[in-house]
Amino acid sequence: MKEAPPTATVVARKEVTHDLFILKLAPSIPFTFTPGQYCTIGLDGIERPYSIVSAPKESTIELFIEMVPDGTLSPRLHRLCVGDQVSLRPKAKGVFTLDEHFHTHLMVATVTGIAPSVSILRSYLLKSLHGHRFFVLDGASYQDELAYNAELRQMAKDLPSLLYVPSISRPTEARNRGWVHGTGRVHQWVEPILSRHGLKPEDTMVYACGHPGMVATIKSDLGAQGFKVKEERFWREHAEVKTPTA
Ligand SMILES: Cc1cc2nc3c(=O)[nH]c(=O)nc-3n(C[C@H](O)[C@H](O)[C@H](O)COP(=O)(O)OP(=O)(O)OC[C@H]3O[C@@H](n4cnc5c(N)ncnc54)[C@H](O)[C@@H]3O)c2cc1C
Repeated sequence: MKEAPPTATVVARKEVTHDLFILKLAPSIPFTFTPGQYCTIGLDGIERPYSIVSAPKESTIELFIEMVPDGTLSPRLHRLCVGDQVSLRPKAKGVFTLDEHFHTHLMVATVTGIAPSVSILRSYLLKSLHGHRFFVLDGASYQDELAYNAELRQMAKDLPSLLYVPSISRPTEARNRGWVHGTGRVHQWVEPILSRHGLKPEDTMVYACGHPGMVATIKSDLGAQGFKVKEERFWREHAEVKTPTA
């Protein structure tokens, strides 16, 4: 008899903002992955990749998802309730993983692009590893979009070799009232961090994840300085414009 295709059941969901949410999924099969990889989930045959936030040791797969208003799958994922099921490809994929050969790791993320960094760092802490330096730059327009801000702050306390730099790009808006931390677009923090902490291409791996414009900027600026850059672009910047049919 043919085996049923793997699924994952929603066991928890959290609204972060009106268009950002976190899903925790219980897979129907043993699901293994390396921190930094993504899984592919779907509904009715429509599948999309999502970077995994959780560490492999956790019992559920945690995802941090942005609902794209005109998107095909993400608005449907946004409507999922606890108990609902999605399809799950059995293998995680991706090479956006920690390269332990490098001593220093500079992670630059926008909004949901923080997912693989959280997975890598949760796993690093759970395994009580040490010996590496981490710089995590976490950017968003609004403070409430930094869903893992509190956790990353705590991680920076637990791991003295981790510097966490959250930054918001619209500091004057009411939604950001009370914000006392970094401001400006996240890539603007890269040069000050490089010079202040003496990051060198020979022993630093750069990870850029999220908004394609930010990833392209990091890739070209740091690539030109000789840094190796791993990149994960969540969508194509110049997506094909569909001509409406009559
Ligand atoms: C390796 C990888 C990992 C990913 N991980 C995550 C993740 O952890 N969390 C997450 O939310 N998304 C992630 N994505 C994006 C995700 O796979 C989907 O593309 C996204 O959810 C939109 O799917 P959709 O079917 O709703 O939209 P689609 O119907 O596929 O796209 C509709 C339009 O929206 C554009 N678009 C897609 N995403 C965005 C966006 N975020 N902002 C603005 N425009 C967009 C597309 O280019 C297209 O023009 C990842 C993508 C890749 C390639």
